[in-house]
Amino acid sequence: GLAIGIVGLPNVGKSTLFNAITRAGALAANYPFATIEPNVGRVTVPDERLAALSRVFTKGDRVPPIIPTFVEFVDIAGLVKGASQGEGLGNQFLANIREVDAIAHVVRCFEDPNVVHVAGQVDPIDDIETINTELILADLAGLEKRLANLQKKAKGGDKEAREQAEMAEQILKVLGEGKPARAGSYEGRIPKEFGLITTKPVIYVANVGEDDLGEDNAYVQQVREYAAREGASVVKISAQIEGELAEMPEDEAREFLSDLGVEESGLDQLVKVGYETLGLITFITSGEKEVRAWTIRRGEKAPEAAGEIHSDLERGFIRAEVIEWQKMVEAGGWANAKSKGWVRTEGKDYVMQDGDIMNVLHNM
Ligand code: GDP
Repeated sequence: GLAIGIVGLPNVGKSTLFNAITRAGALAANYPFATIEPNVGRVTVPDERLAALSRVFTKGDRVPPIIPTFVEFVDIAGLVKGASQGEGLGNQFLANIREVDAIAHVVRCFEDPNVVHVAGQVDPIDDIETINTELILADLAGLEKRLANLQKKAKGGDKEAREQAEMAEQILKVLGEGKPARAGSYEGRIPKEFGLITTKPVIYVANVGEDDLGEDNAYVQQVREYAAREGASVVKISAQIEGELAEMPEDEAREFLSDLGVEESGLDQLVKVGYETLGLITFITSGEKEVRAWTIRRGEKAPEAAGEIHSDLERGFIRAEVIEWQKMVEAGGWANAKSKGWVRTEGKDYVMQDGDIMNVLHNM
């Protein structure tokens, strides 16, 4: 699954948001996993296609359960100004942030005299740069250490180490200019084991008070301008409202949102933007037993997608029956879809499309 790490200065609304996430996750139907770590919350990826398919495959009173995909949010605590100096960023912090696929950077865009701001005043750009600087410094420190090791190995004649050392030097140059590693362009791929933080895509989460959910306030506008220069996305939310929404039944929540002039909860928007940012798509397995969504990267081929379901299905992949979800809804079931000629047979080179329903034929 997809994991998004939540970072931000103290008192910007991270815990409020994270609590909303864990509450939303605890309420979600068909919650497929029982226990998770305390700093990890799961929310299901909203997908109206699954409900439509569940209706298609309902037989009498047997309604196939819906199993959505989920996104994990990891509460990454411990990032403050100067964190990368002195005793350094905690190991736990680094371990947590290295594991996530993307970063949700929460930025305070609300005024409230009762909530102290660590820097004395609300200034989203200054806040963003404070955090970004810490992340760049953390990468600098980690990569310098690694470079020293790589150079030692390279001297001993290790060719791969020499190539990696060259890459590390290129990246260090970018970091040294105060830029995130993702701002540079490099020849070849950055090795995963570099464990860099600033290669990860960032989504700025502008946290506003409930009165500012409609039109952007000046702080949100600043965040949008800043993000646009970086090519990053912005999601405007009210962490407090998200907490209230997480407690409501679905139809009540929808009404509450529309009263506020919003179509979708901030959490749903964040999940969607996270999906887009990482180039993820969904395919579906569907029948009377269950209707289930699976997350894959855009561009993945049918056998890899089958491997998401079970590694045996990738190894034993022969071919796949594929149909677009709308066609299945229109046909009302596999048999009718087949007789209409809407179910295609696809081989190993088929590139999966968002919303495909797939049935894997295999020799396992
Ligand atoms: P964290 O330190 O980033 O985890 O921040 P918290 O989630 O603990 O929030 C700090 C304080 O700000 C708490 O008292 C929250 O209730 C309050 N807070 C969070 N979001 C909002 C908001 O949108 N508006 C207002 N007025 N207060 C908020």
